[in-house]
Amino acid sequence: MLWKKGRRSDNVVDARGDSGGGGGMRFGGGKGLSLTAIVLIVGIGWITGQDPMQILGQLAGQMDSSAPATSQTQTRQAPANDQEAEFVARILGDTEDTWNQIFQQAGRQYAAPKLMLFSGRINSACGGATSATGPFYCPADQRVYLDMSFFKEMAQRFGAAGDFAQAYVIAHEVGHHVQTLLGVSSKIQAARQQGQRMEGDGGLLVRQELQADCLAGVWANNAQKRLNWLEPGDIEEALNAANAIGDDRLQQQGQGRVVPDSFTHGTSAQRVRWFKTGFAQGQVNQCDTFSAKSL
Ligand SMILES: [Zn+2]
Repeated sequence: MLWKKGRRSDNVVDARGDSGGGGGMRFGGGKGLSLTAIVLIVGIGWITGQDPMQILGQLAGQMDSSAPATSQTQTRQAPANDQEAEFVARILGDTEDTWNQIFQQAGRQYAAPKLMLFSGRINSACGGATSATGPFYCPADQRVYLDMSFFKEMAQRFGAAGDFAQAYVIAHEVGHHVQTLLGVSSKIQAARQQGQRMEGDGGLLVRQELQADCLAGVWANNAQKRLNWLEPGDIEEALNAANAIGDDRLQQQGQGRVVPDSFTHGTSAQRVRWFKTGFAQGQVNQCDTFSAKSL
């Protein structure tokens, strides 16, 4: 992927190093729980019927009772020689250009989200999160949260390496932002309050996640048309990532807790299918996962 063709966004906020400002220990003694550990915990929760977040919370409480979570957000830019941050800024920049264009064509205005780079832990309007949470989007503050160590985990644990795989993850989170702007997220909130089924196969959360995958595909299509930046193997990287990983999930109502990604994203085959659907034509109206009979 020729990612340097992307325009650098001004909306990346470098909050790395803000965590544990009072000298508190970071989650897991400074390294964060690995994804493997999370998968295990989620698995244990699933088997025992315990809420994985509760288990995580207990662990966090034991390991990390002293660390103050970051509450202030400074608008700091990443240093210019930071290649990883540069990559994130260029991908985000292109999501802005792409969605600006798509919204304009529909007679709407796109308001770009901020992307918070963090390490260790961070507070969002949706609650506190750690590296172990994985990337997520918080509708309440309209920000994407990303700890780039997730990309290393993706590559090492799940064999989902490659720059376009990473771009797909960012585009998926931005997809959640697009859902918020389009009112999808608030409709889901309303449906939740009416007691509609959220979890499980065919539930609204899965549909929401698959739509974000489809919107990532829409972005990829339109970005490619403008920038011609894909290289052989890039789409396979994204599909491989869609197949291999879960990303964020954050939708507990009320205090809006951040919940580690678990089983709400749909199956691997569904994720691949919806990314492909969005990518094939680059049209948002292809992404109606909510009325799709079969996902
Ligand atoms: Zn998601």
